[in-house]
Amino acid sequence: MTNRREAEAVAPKATSFIGQDEVPGAGEPLAFVHPGDGLVYAELPLAGPAEVDAAVAAARDAFPAWRALNPAARRDLLHRLAGVLREHSGELAGLVSLEMGMPVRASVAGVTQAAEWFAHYAGWADKITGGTVPVAPGAVHDYTVPGPRGVVAAIIPWNGPVIALALKVAPALAAGNCVVLKPSELAPFSSVRLAALLASAGLPEGVLSVVGSGPDVGERLVGHPGVDMISFTGGDRAGRVVGRAAADRHVPTVLELGGKSASLVFPDVDPARAGKLGLVLGAVQNSGQGCFLPTRLLVHRDIYPAVLDAVVAAAGEVRIGDPFDQGTAMGPVVSEAAAERILGVVSAAASRGDGRLVAGGARVDRPGSYLTPAVFADVDPASPLAQEEVFGPVLALTPFQDEDHAVALANGTRYGLAGYVWTADLATAHRVADRLDAGYVSVNGMAGLPPGAPFGGWKASGRGTEGGLDGLREYLHTKNVHVQLRAPGGARP
Ligand code: NDP
Repeated sequence: MTNRREAEAVAPKATSFIGQDEVPGAGEPLAFVHPGDGLVYAELPLAGPAEVDAAVAAARDAFPAWRALNPAARRDLLHRLAGVLREHSGELAGLVSLEMGMPVRASVAGVTQAAEWFAHYAGWADKITGGTVPVAPGAVHDYTVPGPRGVVAAIIPWNGPVIALALKVAPALAAGNCVVLKPSELAPFSSVRLAALLASAGLPEGVLSVVGSGPDVGERLVGHPGVDMISFTGGDRAGRVVGRAAADRHVPTVLELGGKSASLVFPDVDPARAGKLGLVLGAVQNSGQGCFLPTRLLVHRDIYPAVLDAVVAAAGEVRIGDPFDQGTAMGPVVSEAAAERILGVVSAAASRGDGRLVAGGARVDRPGSYLTPAVFADVDPASPLAQEEVFGPVLALTPFQDEDHAVALANGTRYGLAGYVWTADLATAHRVADRLDAGYVSVNGMAGLPPGAPFGGWKASGRGTEGGLDGLREYLHTKNVHVQLRAPGGARP
């Protein structure tokens, strides 16, 4: 699907999917605006408390049969769901681009990767095994049984809704849980459509429901007594609210939060290439709206001037345009409110002197929420621009003197999501990777969330893991069974 009209035509006519059906919300209709042209493409009410209660009830009803399903059948079904994503990747990607403005080439790649997550976790569904414990061989048989936690509340942001859904729903279902998903109120349609497609491919009623709504409904969901686990992706503020609500009921959580990740560019790499990649990865892709993007570019002082020149030159060449145009490298930001907020961050940073604004940071003269990528040079590492997540197309460059200085700068924020190392020297690469306080480190590139690789933040970037076996285990709890082989008063068998 390559154009806005087709995307609008397949957009669901409801913001929720509960049981087996699209469900209209109650209340006043909300206008949904495509950030690529500023025009309304749907006016629909959001889910309210009644929809949350219905979705949790449907999940609870579905759970006994879903957990008891033969693991081989669950494996085959998840493989089928991966196929459905691949088959409908154009349609789902079109909805993502419509909802939040991601260039369609990137949204197709995101949906295709989401299918990989379903295929990966299909493979785990029939390999979840426990173990035996050597307590007292011959007298005691002690063993562990991993089992699903129950009903998972999954809350995702708008910045890549289909891949965010897959990161949570694929492992949760593989482990035998049911899921109530709350997408952002800015982007519910790709999730509703995906849930409908999965249901028509055979996912049983109630195993996956979607309640498209805002933060109030998110709070009701995380506080719901029918929810056994919370997996949340979003910002610091909402993450704290969710964490506190979970603590009130002792409900386990995965919290994937924000970041202020750094690229460390050592002097043995080509400055022209490093500068261009620095801009594209940190500020152009997804218009800088990504949790683990390298939004700080730390550069060895010997090549800093050349890298800065390359960044500025690249900023002037970015193809900013319609998300549905195949040639677009950078689309709009998600909304007018986001555009205004980001411009406010840029002008505050410039007037405080956090750094020198050397490129971009302005509106593009066309309808929609388009910004040029902002580049700040000589950024003070202690300034808000170097410390706080912007979640928009803003790159902060700072020079470093040596490896120790680079590592200190990279680790010198409260976040710990990702780190990037650029060097031709193997020893530097591994040493620095080891020294970075981050859950995810890429050397000479950027990993595209391969499903087998565990991903998760340290420090204020959250807790818990998505991906691989570690990610699956989040959705399981362990029962230990201790069996005395001699019955009370009886003889040893
Ligand atoms: P928010 O934290 O505002 O929202 C995330 C989700 O939580 C949305 O569905 C939102 O609903 C919901 N929500 C908001 N408040 C509450 C609440 N009190 N209780 C329950 N749910 C709530 O983040 P954004 O959507 O703006 O996304 C950007 C943030 O997400 C950035 O900080 C980014 O770094 C982070 N992120 C982290 C990732 C990671 O893996 N570590 C990956 C992607 C993004 P609604 O939108 O309707 O308000």
